[in-house]
Amino acid sequence: MIDNEFDLYGRIIKQSELNNKLLSKDDLTRIPGMMLNKDTVYCNRCNMNCEKELARLSENNYYCYYCVNLGAIKLDDILVSKKAISFKKQNNPLTWEGKLTKLQEKCSKELVRSLELKKTYLLCAVTGAGKTEILFSGIEWGLKRGFRICICSPRVDVCIELFPRISEAFLHTTIQLLHGKIDENYHYTQIVICTTHQLIRFKDAFDILIIDEVDSFPFMKNLLLEKAVIKAKKYFGGLVYLTATPNKYLLSKNKNMKIDYLPLRFHRNLLPELKIHISMNWYQKLLKNKLPKLLLKKIKYNIDNKIPFLLFVPEIKMIKMVEKALFFNEIKDNFDSVFSADPNRIEKVKKMRNKKILFLITTTILERGVTFPGIDVIILGAENRVFNCSSIIQIAGRVGRKEIRPYGNVDLFANFYNYNMIDAKKKIIEMNKKGKQLLDDK
Ligand SMILES: [Zn+2]
Repeated sequence: MIDNEFDLYGRIIKQSELNNKLLSKDDLTRIPGMMLNKDTVYCNRCNMNCEKELARLSENNYYCYYCVNLGAIKLDDILVSKKAISFKKQNNPLTWEGKLTKLQEKCSKELVRSLELKKTYLLCAVTGAGKTEILFSGIEWGLKRGFRICICSPRVDVCIELFPRISEAFLHTTIQLLHGKIDENYHYTQIVICTTHQLIRFKDAFDILIIDEVDSFPFMKNLLLEKAVIKAKKYFGGLVYLTATPNKYLLSKNKNMKIDYLPLRFHRNLLPELKIHISMNWYQKLLKNKLPKLLLKKIKYNIDNKIPFLLFVPEIKMIKMVEKALFFNEIKDNFDSVFSADPNRIEKVKKMRNKKILFLITTTILERGVTFPGIDVIILGAENRVFNCSSIIQIAGRVGRKEIRPYGNVDLFANFYNYNMIDAKKKIIEMNKKGKQLLDDK
């Protein structure tokens, strides 16, 4: 139940969620939950058009099947919203005391310039380039003007990683983390860090909207989320995209945006390149509790030398199979496994970060956004289509992120070569060429 008027600013929520005091207010904008057309029903929360027959609940009632995950909107619901107000202008909102590299600084200036010019800005930075730090000046620029800012990502793990870093950099600014896996109630804050799905509940809320890992699932080519971005951002608000792997779709949809490329990691080391190993019938071997010989050798080497690593598998069911094969090979502790619906997912990632375990067997949920210092990565079944080019580049990007071990191994085990693997390998080599050029130019 919502009982604070502030919590309505820039939100679009059901009237039935308001307490009695707010219900009687006459300065709220009220609109019907849905609008009935000839063959479709239009949802006023997510702006999607539902097919009448699929959305029908009873003879005269319908619901929106697009945004039902956030609580069903029905034809007879009333949605309320209230115009957002500006925050107090801050003089020195940035409490981060680090220093940007020259390359980061160049992008950072361009970002602020784009915000001033109200131009969409895209930063294509290699994994480990320090994208978050580049954002600080843009956020600072906004906070000095009393703006409300949202940093969102399609990936919950990215949001969870961003939250403490942004909070620390802006200690005096109210900030909230929103995603489907936390129970904390929404409250009005100047900075919001959330998954892109959460944007559906906002309307004309943000003066600056930043989307991190914009190329990742489920955002790309997802009309529901694309509409949510437009709706959550104020009409004249600034839009910023961040990605390590820009794709044609993103570039073609935003023809007039300012694009910056940052091909070098912040510690000025190149990206680790892919090693692809063809391991025929690895799945059949796994069914017999066996792992490819070279893979087993690598795992044992890392255990003996205490080198942490992530072992990616394409499907959840394979996690148990790999665990079993490890048991058969006398590898019984020092690791855990994690997947998207795992209720202990956040704790397990913490365990890995705190070095309580040496390795995690994981699905693609840990492909991006997470940083574990000094790790290697292994992909088993790299030919599976869940490992698309951007996903492989991101997985490889987990390696060598910190200066203490700026290198590391990226080993792919696959039944056969496929386009994604070759493309990812090529793109990393290309980025390293550009990065090397920058190093040589110095
Ligand atoms: Zn909807």
